[in-house]
Amino acid sequence: MSQPSGKKEFCGIFAVFNSPNAAEMTFMGLHALQHRGQESTGIVSSDGENLYRHADLGLVADVFANPHNLKKLKGHLAIGHNRYSTTGSTSVANTQPMAINYHGGALALAHNGNLVNSGSLRQQLERAGSIFSSSADSEVILHLLARSRKSDLIGQLRDALGQIEGAYALVILTEDSIIAVRDPHGFRPLCMGSKDGTVVFASESCALDLVEATYIRDVDAGEIVVVSEDGVKSHHLPPVDSVTQCIFEFIYFSRPDSRIFGEYVDKTRRKLGKVLAEESPTPGADIVISVPDSSNTAALGYAQKAGLPYELALIRNHYIGRTFIHPSQVMRDYNVRVKFNTVGGVLRGRSVVVVDDSIVRGTTLKKLTSLIRHAGASEVHLRISSPPIRYPCFFGMDFPTSKELVASHKDVEEVRSFLGVDSLNYLSIEGLLRAVPVGRCGYCTCCFTGDYPVEIKEACDKHLLEHTTHIMELEFKDDKE
Ligand code: SF4
Repeated sequence: MSQPSGKKEFCGIFAVFNSPNAAEMTFMGLHALQHRGQESTGIVSSDGENLYRHADLGLVADVFANPHNLKKLKGHLAIGHNRYSTTGSTSVANTQPMAINYHGGALALAHNGNLVNSGSLRQQLERAGSIFSSSADSEVILHLLARSRKSDLIGQLRDALGQIEGAYALVILTEDSIIAVRDPHGFRPLCMGSKDGTVVFASESCALDLVEATYIRDVDAGEIVVVSEDGVKSHHLPPVDSVTQCIFEFIYFSRPDSRIFGEYVDKTRRKLGKVLAEESPTPGADIVISVPDSSNTAALGYAQKAGLPYELALIRNHYIGRTFIHPSQVMRDYNVRVKFNTVGGVLRGRSVVVVDDSIVRGTTLKKLTSLIRHAGASEVHLRISSPPIRYPCFFGMDFPTSKELVASHKDVEEVRSFLGVDSLNYLSIEGLLRAVPVGRCGYCTCCFTGDYPVEIKEACDKHLLEHTTHIMELEFKDDKE
């Protein structure tokens, strides 16, 4: 996906139990998960007596560039988080893992996902006297947990999770244990691995690979896994009607070298391209190219199935700093050129199939296809390895509102004309479901269909959060650990 004006990743989480290098391992795990969130990062560790925290705005390599920041994270247990905000503002106060002291002791939590009823819960809690220190929905979980009358942590956690709705994959750190949770719908991935007696949890298995841990299994939807000196124990939340894992993890979010929901992303993404080629062949085309990097694998699958050469015609600059994420208008006009350049020798005089994984607003893709034409392509045929995105996501994906989604108010021909390409085809919903692995769990497809698996009571609680955000910005703007 040509990312600048479209969707953004959400969060990545990582946890380590029983390693003398817990913080270092978490640092490396977060590195592997950097694609899931680039806004802020943080680690909390435990040596059995105290929790130690360092978190800040920025990339993993920047926030932990000073070796002292890692050294002070003592202990054999750690959890980490990379954040891209889907709820709450960009501020140090919203960095995770969040750490608290409550009547049950010290605890830290890292959350990937988005709660759909956090606004009303927050309002109720505030009326009952709770004071929030961030505008992130994740803090609601901590308040609910601390208010539970149950005496043990699992009971408190069950109480809290019983009240929240939406998407959550969590890792929780206490002085002497790690707890990993996936919501009963299983929206977000979370897997478990091990290495020489160390237990590791990660949003994607590519993070296990980096720390040389072996993949054991996924945390099940609705499962609470507790790892402590007593070993690994499993608890279960009440089941829901259907498990709805985010199908977009396969289309775009997860790295192709990862295993999520127990399946290999590369294999599935390649199949998306193959089914797309079956459904939408391009007679007379000379080459297939991808919009790097997220579409590379689907384009490869398309080319294989279509019997066309796969060429590298768009070169992506990987060294763009944060400056270009929110640049001035003048710079924004150049954002596509800054990020991508064309290989004229490959494109000149060729009829080109461009494979992209999805279209959100379409503004970036419009500029990109225009670049391809300017480089001399005789024809530009766009093939999208997912159906049209017509509805917003309330489960952690930062899609714009329906109004801004180009496919919500334009049909395929209108989108084609807007993008200025010779032909446009999307993968069908049936094709998408044919390409993804059929397991014992189902998938969420509601950004394509609008059939939300969870009742969306609060379209968005932004009015509540904005109020809180202003307070946070004033009080915490200089807060550095
Ligand atoms: S709405 Fe789309 S992006 Fe959001 S969880 Fe469902 S499939 Fe994933």
